Amino acid sequence: MYESPSPLLPLPQDQPGFLECHGHPDPLLIGDGGLFVASSPLGLGLFAARSFAEGETILVFNGALLTLEQVIAKGDDQANPLQVDDQLYLDIGYPAVYANHSCRPNTGIRDDVRLVALEPISPGQEIFWDYSTSMWEDYWVMDCQCGEPCCRRQIGDFPSLPTWQQWEYLSRGLVLQFIRRRLEERGAPDLD
Ligand SMILES: [Zn+2]
Repeated sequence: MYESPSPLLPLPQDQPGFLECHGHPDPLLIGDGGLFVASSPLGLGLFAARSFAEGETILVFNGALLTLEQVIAKGDDQANPLQVDDQLYLDIGYPAVYANHSCRPNTGIRDDVRLVALEPISPGQEIFWDYSTSMWEDYWVMDCQCGEPCCRRQIGDFPSLPTWQQWEYLSRGLVLQFIRRRLEERGAPDLD
C-alpha cells in the first residue's frame, strides 16, 4: 500500500475502469467518473466524488480470472483476488482494489461483479463493502479495524457471519453466487 496521499488527478474520460494498479506511478487518479482514491484511516480508500442513490452501481469489478494456484504464484503483492467461485478469482484492478471492508458497509456486491450503493452516498464518503459476502475459502481471516460499534474484530468466510447477518445479506441479494450455491448444496433454504 502507498503511504501518503498526493493531490488528486482526474481520470481521462476514455480511461477504462480497470487499470493494473501495481506499479502504477500514481495511485491517486480518479477512477470511474464518480470515485477517487485518497487517504483513509485504513490506509488508502475509495471515496465517492458525487452522490450515489441507493441501488446505484458504484463500479463493476473486472480483471483477469485466476485460479487459486495462479493467485498464489502471483503473490500477495501482485494479486488482488476477489473470490468468484471455488478456487477461482477475479484479479480486480484500480480503483476497485481500494474499496475497504467495513462491518457496516454502505455498498454490496450484486450479480457477482456490481458494487451497488446500499444507501444514499454523499460526495466525500468512503466506499465500504463487507468482504465476508464474497469469501468462502475455509481458512481466510482478516483482522478488522473498521471502528464500527458492530465491528466483528476478525472477519472471515461467509459462514463465519452471524446467522441473522447471513440472512440479511442473502435476502438483499448481496452474496456471490458460488456462496449461495454452496449453501444450497448444504441444504440451506432457497432465498430467491
Ligand atoms: Zn469491522
